[in-house]
Amino acid sequence: MDIDFLSEYQMLLTEASQFHLGYPYNLKHDNTFLLPFLKYSINNLGGDCFTKSHYRIDSRDFEKEVLQFFANLYQLQDWWGYVTTSGTEGNLYGILLGRENYPDGILYASAASHYSVNKAAKFFRIPYHQIGIQTPSEEMNYSDFYRKLVPNLPAIICLNLGTTFTGAIDDIEQILNALEMKKIRQFYIHVDGALGGMLLPYLRSHWIDFHKPISSLSISGHKFIGCPFPCGIVITKKHLVEALASDIEYLGAQDMTIGGSRNGHTSLCLWYEICKRHSNFALEVADCVAKAEHLYAQLKLRDFNPLLNPYSNTVVFDKPSDSLVKKYQLAARGDYAHAVVMQNHYIEFLDYFVEELAREQLNLAKIGKG
Ligand SMILES: *Cc1c(COP(=O)(O)O)cnc(C)c1O
Repeated sequence: MDIDFLSEYQMLLTEASQFHLGYPYNLKHDNTFLLPFLKYSINNLGGDCFTKSHYRIDSRDFEKEVLQFFANLYQLQDWWGYVTTSGTEGNLYGILLGRENYPDGILYASAASHYSVNKAAKFFRIPYHQIGIQTPSEEMNYSDFYRKLVPNLPAIICLNLGTTFTGAIDDIEQILNALEMKKIRQFYIHVDGALGGMLLPYLRSHWIDFHKPISSLSISGHKFIGCPFPCGIVITKKHLVEALASDIEYLGAQDMTIGGSRNGHTSLCLWYEICKRHSNFALEVADCVAKAEHLYAQLKLRDFNPLLNPYSNTVVFDKPSDSLVKKYQLAARGDYAHAVVMQNHYIEFLDYFVEELAREQLNLAKIGKG
């Protein structure tokens, strides 16, 4: 490749973006405001958004406002947190914080959890008990949870607020009930809300927030909000991070984050999108869910065996041919594929997609008969 290839690359990106339907990424964001700031090496290095380092080319004031937005959304007063590189880093952080608070704790998460939970168990060497799931929703199986809960040891639980494949939400009340029945008073609940964390508060308020005994929450920034770079946020109750505090004099800061250098432009992007759109988020969520319901209905009509969980914009259906999976960049698993309906999808596009699936099915049936 030489430099001339870049214009072709731009065309490839445009084409791939037009047909994208499989990942929960809002591709409708406009961050051209960022252009003048690309001149600067913005880095929130060596600590959270409260602690200034000697390096002053940072965006911590923006980062703080981003986190304040999420703290308000989830009813958290005394918060601590930071803008991460991804939902994965938020999960690693939340689960690590659980272990720091309960060093002999056992990690519990459902089999439908994101692979970052497995990663956390491995990285931090936390005993991990995987919990079964219900079918077809893929919500946690609570009797299996109860059965596997080890008495007299603290529990670190990763609760799914929207699983990756089916958008299922684990019921916090059922989890709390099981803990209560097993008399486990020492527990830490990390909420993985990579995508769903931006949907649920606008669809059903006060079901999962910090008024309930949850300890930390991770959300991806490039999913519902949308951002040219992968990013996320993690927030937690302030007193819980004191277990991790350590002095790093070199930077003149206390670093309690996983990264050392942290992308300063992402805080700027998230802040900009939140400023512009926060009063519109409820409408955007309702629109995505309504379009997902439309897609579900169309797929049902044509016998594609669809599934759409409550409070979700993820539609699972029978997997089409590899060429359609590739064209629409569908996430596929076994005999199923899913589409995640985001802000950038129009009804016409979804209908076109269903027509293409139906046409393929018809052709396959013809070949089968012939
Ligand atoms: C996408 C996703 C993640 C990971 O987020 P990244 O930002 O891709 O690292 C974690 N959990 C769930 C449920 C997800 O869907």
